[in-house]
Amino acid sequence: MDITVAYFHPLLHPEIVKRDFEQIRATGAGSIVYAVHEQEQQRWPHDLERGFRQAQDVGLKVHLSLGRYGNLFAGPSYIPSWYTFRHPQSRVMDRHGRHHEISCFNHQSFRTWLFKEVEYYLNTYPINGILIDEPRGLEVTCFCSVCRALCPDVTDLPRFRRRSMIDFLGELCACVKRIDAGVKTTVVLLPQDLYLVDELATLPQIDTIGSHLFWNLLNEDVTMVGKHGSSLVEVTRKYNKRSQLWLQNFNLDESSEEQLALAFTELLSAEPDELGCYYYWRNNADPDRVWEITRGLLRRIPRRQLHWQATLMNQ
Ligand SMILES: [Zn+2]
Repeated sequence: MDITVAYFHPLLHPEIVKRDFEQIRATGAGSIVYAVHEQEQQRWPHDLERGFRQAQDVGLKVHLSLGRYGNLFAGPSYIPSWYTFRHPQSRVMDRHGRHHEISCFNHQSFRTWLFKEVEYYLNTYPINGILIDEPRGLEVTCFCSVCRALCPDVTDLPRFRRRSMIDFLGELCACVKRIDAGVKTTVVLLPQDLYLVDELATLPQIDTIGSHLFWNLLNEDVTMVGKHGSSLVEVTRKYNKRSQLWLQNFNLDESSEEQLALAFTELLSAEPDELGCYYYWRNNADPDRVWEITRGLLRRIPRRQLHWQATLMNQ
């Protein structure tokens, strides 16, 4: 089982970054997820380049998440998309003519911009994967002129929306593979969106499908981790895709901390290909203790298995 750790911290201080990445590597992790928001690349090019190299130097692959691009994906900073702000005509429009703060993925100009951004990142920085974090866009059926032109039958618009979202994600991953076939593509869904897994799994350009099994954040019983996790793993296996299940080791207080071990056991019972968790991520009552607990849990993953993976990677 591979371990991926999300690192949502600035890369500005090389010594701190080095210490953090060594700690992450010492847990047996093979990858980090780093999220970049639209405006950051312009201000931090040296920091991104150096930080990604530092990760790779200690043996961590770098998966880049497109934070809130077009307000279509999740991101660690709760900020609006610069693109959507500057291109209000790209926004989703509902049946009442009201606009929503999310770019419609059927707009060719939006797609062209997004794919160029991906191309720029892959050609500029040492990146091993692109991660699409909680794609959204199905909560409102879009009646914009582009969608109406592509789907003249108004009664078919909701179904068209879902179909075109799958197409869009497929095209985004295909764009990654066209630039570099060796770069891995991952789509991570919230549990309520797992009904999309069957369709996503048929897309040849997607390597990994994951789920954020945030029982505590979503006010669900911790047993949801095993239930949703197993159903995702079952589908991904059927289609020869990799599965990635995420542990909510953030936003925990003293009582929910106690459920962390249970969530981890549930997650392991689903036998995913990869486990995802966070390095000192937000709003824990006791951040040091949560990271200590997380490290302890990760040690339970058999070393032999991790060693075997490391050997394969070095060949
Ligand atoms: Zn639209």
